[in-house]
Amino acid sequence: MILVSGLNPGILKWCKIKTMVRIWFLIVVFSCLLCSSAAASSIPDLKFSVHKLKSGIKGHTLLIIGGIQGDEPGGFNAASLIVTHYEILSGNVWVVPNLNFPSIIKRSRGVYGDLNRKFAKLHPKDPEYQTINRIKKLIIDPEVDLVLNLHDGSGFYRDKYYDKLHNPNRWGQCIIIDQENMRTGYFSNLSRIADSAVAHVNKHLLKEKERFHINNTQTKKGNKEMAKTLTYFAIKNNKSAFGLEASKSFLTAKRAYYHLLAIESFLHQAGIEFKRKFNLSEDQIKKAIDHNIHVALNHRKILLKIENVRKRLNYIPLKKDSQIEFQVNNPLMTIVNSGNAFRVYHGNRQLTYLSPQYFDYDFSLDAVDMVVDGNHRTVPFGSIVPVKNSFIVKDLKEHRVNIIGFTKKGVKNESGVPVTRKNIHKKYSINKKGSIFRVEIYKSKKFSGMVLVDFDGKGLPDFNVAFKEKTPGWSKKLF
Ligand SMILES: [Zn+2]
Repeated sequence: MILVSGLNPGILKWCKIKTMVRIWFLIVVFSCLLCSSAAASSIPDLKFSVHKLKSGIKGHTLLIIGGIQGDEPGGFNAASLIVTHYEILSGNVWVVPNLNFPSIIKRSRGVYGDLNRKFAKLHPKDPEYQTINRIKKLIIDPEVDLVLNLHDGSGFYRDKYYDKLHNPNRWGQCIIIDQENMRTGYFSNLSRIADSAVAHVNKHLLKEKERFHINNTQTKKGNKEMAKTLTYFAIKNNKSAFGLEASKSFLTAKRAYYHLLAIESFLHQAGIEFKRKFNLSEDQIKKAIDHNIHVALNHRKILLKIENVRKRLNYIPLKKDSQIEFQVNNPLMTIVNSGNAFRVYHGNRQLTYLSPQYFDYDFSLDAVDMVVDGNHRTVPFGSIVPVKNSFIVKDLKEHRVNIIGFTKKGVKNESGVPVTRKNIHKKYSINKKGSIFRVEIYKSKKFSGMVLVDFDGKGLPDFNVAFKEKTPGWSKKLF
């Protein structure tokens, strides 16, 4: 159903304003509209997030930074996995997994130039001035002992020229230090610490030719390019800092594998204990990156499971004439307004495209009663219900139930009707596998809320996804 609205009452009011004022206003409004639509369609305004993983047990603090350049997914996915899949048991780990978030979404090295050349001096009018100031503040925070900046570099670094892919001008598979030692501070012997990390990585190589090396850029001795970087800014401020480079010759999961190996060595060396929720292998990393990712819309009246989602979801019931509020449970995810629709991103990848249908919202209900495989259950909107064989949404007096993909002749309100996997059309599922379906509740023409039923769901873990709001500003708003 498509809703056509009549003349907006706001516009009628306008007619009463004196002509001159009206024209002036229209010019202002029109130019604002132009600006905002240009901004929306070009570069999204996204700030990086800071995730402070605190163990509660005294120890050193390691700062991990990913995504300084937007086209290096090995680094920023590794950083994001630390947030989502590691538990810190002693000391602290702070993670910025998405430093250059707008460039990550645009899959660009840097939409405003190279962010890693803006640490020595920067014009206050530079669009990334605030980003640089925020990250500098974090680096020089008295709590931070050690800084890791994660990159994906081309080819394979070697200290001598071997061939086009293996030579001193390549950056892949190395740990970068700016100098051998620092005069003061914890972890001042940079080359010895990097040595240990390289040795740890090389113990776990997937192939012998993927060996790591140390790359000392000797920045102080006149390396003008490296003098503008994040790590050198840290060194100058007495913070031990290292650049980690995985090779761009590999796919993302393999790059993240090498990053995580190196990071774990730094954690060991800093005495920070941790627990990882997956086995360190390419295959497990690939699964972990998309594991359990969700988007909640409009105060969780709608929850969408994005893992294995279809490329396009149609008729998403959004709220008429108002901002869309959303939450994500992964630091690399966001939603970008794109003309008449919304694109859901995870890092460099657009995972799905939400095509909306606009409704007024009804707030008279926040849960539905269901019978799931014979068991009675009250299901709050924004939940995913695991179903083995069948479910029934119990009769609602004032509300109507629409199970997307289910039709039964003569039935308009699909409450009270048993639904099995067999009598629901697979192509209406929200996931490619064809197992997760939308159950939508309406009151007259107003949208009340949605739950998902998952015929492959394994039970409790998915039933109520906990949104870990580790950072203020985790919720974002869009028009
Ligand atoms: Zn880089």
